[in-house]
Amino acid sequence: MSRAAFDRLLVAVGDLFEEYPVLAAFDAFPEDLEWSGLPPEPLEMASQVAGWHVDGTSPVHEFHQSVQSVAPEANWRQTYSEAEVGADFLANYGYFELYGPTGHFHCGSARAFVAYWGAGLTYDWHHHAAEELYFVVSGAAVFQCKGKADATLTRGMTRRHDVWQRHAMKTRDRAILTFVLWRGEGLEQPPKLYADL
Ligand code: ZN
Repeated sequence: MSRAAFDRLLVAVGDLFEEYPVLAAFDAFPEDLEWSGLPPEPLEMASQVAGWHVDGTSPVHEFHQSVQSVAPEANWRQTYSEAEVGADFLANYGYFELYGPTGHFHCGSARAFVAYWGAGLTYDWHHHAAEELYFVVSGAAVFQCKGKADATLTRGMTRRHDVWQRHAMKTRDRAILTFVLWRGEGLEQPPKLYADL
């Protein structure tokens, strides 16, 4: 397991926090991170992330390139079953917990994910106990949220979801790579889909 690649990603996250104060305003970059030695959990979709090249030298580009490097060794997860979201969704989506209670770096007070969706996917309505901030690293998607207008978000843009606020997302002709922060109560509770909405 290449810790160096994850350390590089963590440095990129720190730089991202400096470049985009909206992240630190949501939750401070944690100081108490401990390498947890999670094993790789390869999903097929990881090759899409590993193969997604972007040119550029800004902190957000560095973040993307660092994610590319760790993609083959990340502990990829999927919250949902095929019965819930379908085979196509599962073949083209995945996330890993960079830091948090069960992340590559352990942290009991904060949680951060790197999440990817391929083009042409609908992430149906869902909600969760934790507050959430989406930061778009690359690509684009339409973000939907009860109480707000739909918005197409691209690199460097953010969207915050309140506690139990229902939200959904659609990718169109492009994939999306995101950095997702959670804070507050219910850090360890997974999202619930709203099949009836
Ligand atoms: Zn969410």
